[in-house]
Amino acid sequence: MIVAMQEVATEEQIQKVIERLVHLGFEVHRSTGARQTVLGAVGARNEFDIRDIEVLEGVSEAHRVSSPYKLVARSFRPEGTVVKFSNGVSIGGQEVVIMAGPCSVESHEQIFEVAEMVSKAGARFLRGGAFKPRSSPYSFQGMGEEALKLMRDAADKFKLLVISEVMEISQIPLMIPYVDVLQVGARNMQNFNLLRELNYDVMLCERGIRTFETYTRNTMDISAIPIVKKLSHLPMVADPSHGTGRRDKVPPMGRAAIAAGTDALLVEVHNCPDKALSDGAQSLYPEQFTKLMAELRIIAPAVGRTLA
Ligand code: MN
Repeated sequence: MIVAMQEVATEEQIQKVIERLVHLGFEVHRSTGARQTVLGAVGARNEFDIRDIEVLEGVSEAHRVSSPYKLVARSFRPEGTVVKFSNGVSIGGQEVVIMAGPCSVESHEQIFEVAEMVSKAGARFLRGGAFKPRSSPYSFQGMGEEALKLMRDAADKFKLLVISEVMEISQIPLMIPYVDVLQVGARNMQNFNLLRELNYDVMLCERGIRTFETYTRNTMDISAIPIVKKLSHLPMVADPSHGTGRRDKVPPMGRAAIAAGTDALLVEVHNCPDKALSDGAQSLYPEQFTKLMAELRIIAPAVGRTLA
C-alpha cells in the first residue's frame, strides 16, 4: 500500500499513521520529499479496510498495490488456469472453445437438431437453459430436469459437453449428473451463498454491462477481455448474444471477442429462432452460426489460437 501524506501534515500525524500501519502488520518505508511525505507499506494481510488509513489525520490518499483478490490474481498463477474436461477438451489453453445452443431447451426435436448442427460446425459445448430466470413470472420458466436429461442425451450423441445455468443451491445436486459447466447468471453474481458452493475451476464471462446506450440490450465490453486476462489467471468466456441482444450484432462481436483474446465463446443458436420461447431475437439461424464458425477459423490462427 502507498500512503501519501498531505503537504501540511505534521510530524506527529505522520508518526501516528506509521504506528497504525505497524500495528496492522505492515513494514513501513518512509520517503520524505521536499514538500510531501510518502509511506510505502508492505507485508500485511489483505483483510484490512483501507478506509482505516484514509480517515487518519494528515493522510492525502492511500492506494493498494497488491490486489484484494489474491486467489484469482494473475500473479498467483502467471501461466494461467486451464480448465480440463473428461473428453480431453480444455478451456484456457490454445484452443478457443465454442459453446452454442438455444436460450431454453424447449423440446426433444429442438435440442437434438441444434446439437447436431452446432457439433458439425465445430462447437465443443451444447448450451441451453433448464431453469429460466425470467424478468416476468408469466414468461416461459423452463423445462427443469427434463431439459437437463434431453441436453445430456443430445450432447452425448453428438460428442458435446453441456453448460447450463444454476439458479439456486438446491439445484446443484440435481444438475451435477447432467452438466459439465454450471453457469451463474448476472442476476446471481452477488448471491454469495450460491457462489461459495461452487468449486475452484472458475471461468469469467463478459456478457454485456449496463450503460446509457439503449440501442443494444447490454453494452458488450470487449475491452474487459484483455483487462481480465491481465489481472486474473482465470479463463475468459464471451457471450455476444446477451451482450448485444440482437442477432445481427452477434457475429461481429463474436469475431471481436476472439480477436481480443477470449478463451471461449458462448452463442445462442436456435433451429427456428422465429418460434423460440425465449431470446429468439438474439438467437442465430443455423446458417448464420455455420458462417460465423468459418469466419472464426480465420481469426483464431491470426491471434495464435486454434479452433476445432
Ligand atoms: Mn438467453
